[in-house]
Amino acid sequence: MSTPKDLPKHIKAILTAIGEDPNREGLKRTPERVEKSLKFLTQGYKQNIKTLLNEALFTVPYDEMVIIKDIDVYSLCEHHLLPFFGKAHVAYIPNGKVLGLSKVPRLVDMFARRLQVQERLTVEIAEAIIEAIKPRGVGVIIEAMHFCMIMRGVEKQNSMIITSTLLGAFRTRQETRSEFMTLIRQKA
Ligand SMILES: [Zn+2]
Repeated sequence: MSTPKDLPKHIKAILTAIGEDPNREGLKRTPERVEKSLKFLTQGYKQNIKTLLNEALFTVPYDEMVIIKDIDVYSLCEHHLLPFFGKAHVAYIPNGKVLGLSKVPRLVDMFARRLQVQERLTVEIAEAIIEAIKPRGVGVIIEAMHFCMIMRGVEKQNSMIITSTLLGAFRTRQETRSEFMTLIRQKA
């Protein structure tokens, strides 16, 4: 079985397999650089919701929609190991508890820094918030562009992929959904 230590060796093998000379000057340190970058881009595997959100749950009487929009998303698609990137918009209606504001972008990062498909990323963020603070509802929308479409010349290469997960009040109440949509379209 391969361990993280074997990464440079495998990256070198990939360089050879695509017809490169891994010993030429420009590529000499590439296996180590790719190893470092891959570890960073997949560090979400080493994080979990509990330690990430710990001690950042606050009890408040506020029960209006909380919305954090335009959160940068950088992830890797699990089908091609190519980046997809864009924005996430996250909203919830508290039911006694709120999350520390900085925690939502960190939650997005944790799931994004794993191999992903955009649909699952959207669901995972929403479900983590449900689990953490049991809100009245959660809405997550991600708008992203995928390099596996853009660079590989797949049709509609400039199109934005939009995914959404609506749970609780965001699913059942039309007004809540509309409020969410209006708020994310508003320019700050
Ligand atoms: Zn892909």
